Amino acid sequence: MEKSIREGLIERNLWLVRLRWVAVIGVVLTVLFVSQVFKLSLSTLALYTIALILGLYNLIFFILLGRIKNKKSPDISFTANRIANLQISLDLASLAFLIHFSGGIENPFIFYFIFHMIIASILLSRRASFLQATYAVLLFSSLVTLEYFGILPHYSLKGFIMHNQHNNPFYITGVSFVFITTLYIAVYMATSISAKLREREKSLKQANELLSEKDRIKSEYVLRVSHDIKEHLSAIQGCLEPVAGGITGELNSKQRDLIQRANERAERLVLFVRALLEITHLKLSRQIEMHYFSLQKTIENAINLVDQGAKDKGIFISCNIEPNIGMIKGAEIYIEETIANLLANAVKYTTGNGEINLKASDRGNSVLIEIADTGIGIPQDELPKIFEEFYRASNAKGLEKYGTGLGLSIAKQVVERHTGKIWAESQEGKGSAFYIILPKEQEKDAPQSDKN
Ligand code: ADP
Repeated sequence: MEKSIREGLIERNLWLVRLRWVAVIGVVLTVLFVSQVFKLSLSTLALYTIALILGLYNLIFFILLGRIKNKKSPDISFTANRIANLQISLDLASLAFLIHFSGGIENPFIFYFIFHMIIASILLSRRASFLQATYAVLLFSSLVTLEYFGILPHYSLKGFIMHNQHNNPFYITGVSFVFITTLYIAVYMATSISAKLREREKSLKQANELLSEKDRIKSEYVLRVSHDIKEHLSAIQGCLEPVAGGITGELNSKQRDLIQRANERAERLVLFVRALLEITHLKLSRQIEMHYFSLQKTIENAINLVDQGAKDKGIFISCNIEPNIGMIKGAEIYIEETIANLLANAVKYTTGNGEINLKASDRGNSVLIEIADTGIGIPQDELPKIFEEFYRASNAKGLEKYGTGLGLSIAKQVVERHTGKIWAESQEGKGSAFYIILPKEQEKDAPQSDKN
């Protein structure tokens, strides 16, 4: 079963558990308030006992659901449905007992049964919701009938305006009619809305799957075309090199200049095609290989890759890595490339004599890497777009004419494949800071090996 569906079913059950904690507190406070402030005579002991029972079985459900959540059984939809049914049935019985000990039909809280009907309509099938409504009606009618015939004692709400109505047939008939019809109408309305929402959810899911499939086809197409272009480019470079090197005969300065320009363009195109191939590969690969590696070493390797370029521009790189940062689990090569990419950008978009600061800190289950520069910055309105494929900010184009606009998209793909987060903060003209959060461990069932 899909992980998201599994989680959805358990989460809905847990939602009910959370609501029940609130209900337990609500019952205790209401009893306290009504008995102490309104001075109504209530069977407080019985009511508190029911609240305690509510709390106890809620705890049991909480533990049970936690266990199911961690267990890797393939199909839990049946169990989850049964638990939801059981939870609602027990809640209806508890409410019936609460009502019985606090005035029976005189108690206006009888309409709280409607909440349970709405909850049932959200969690259960239409049929199961109507069955729960019928069960609620049976509980209510049994209570009213048994109290009417004196088989069950009537705990009158003395001091409340409607006390001793439990043996008034007109009152009982009127309230029962309104109560029962309200329950069924509520279930009808809520299940209709739920069914529509479920349908919409289903069609959204289908649309999403279709989009992913289209995206995959597009990526495969890009991959094929890029491969072809790369091959032809290599062939063109192979022809240009001997000519530029004079192997095919002396060139005059005009010819040399033209050949050189053609060579440069071919090199740029190779870089672009490589980046395109890389991001497409990443998108198409279902799993990437992950293992433990030293983050400190990886960061140092990445700095080495850009160090010379920074020195040439008079840019100073400082590095501050928390000593206890240790090992993290991930795709080492990709992480090194991502950090190197951000550092290379910092060098590229910082004019002479600037500074780049790299910091890596331990955050318990994750690490935070920060790369800040004193460069040209990013215009505020363009900041949200810089992680989009091929996007280049307007001020960057002025400083660096050529660029793929793919580096940050690749970085984003890599970080997200590690279930991490990447974002940027910047002030135009003052500098930029890029942040990456990487979990130290990947989730148990996260991708482990490269099958691409
Ligand atoms: P490229 O650098 O090839 O243009 P990237 O995907 O690496 O592509 O970056 C996208 C855009 O984000 C850049 O064109 C630039 O506008 C902006 N950018 C990235 N890093 C920085 C930085 N350190 N300082 C200023 N702008 C940056």
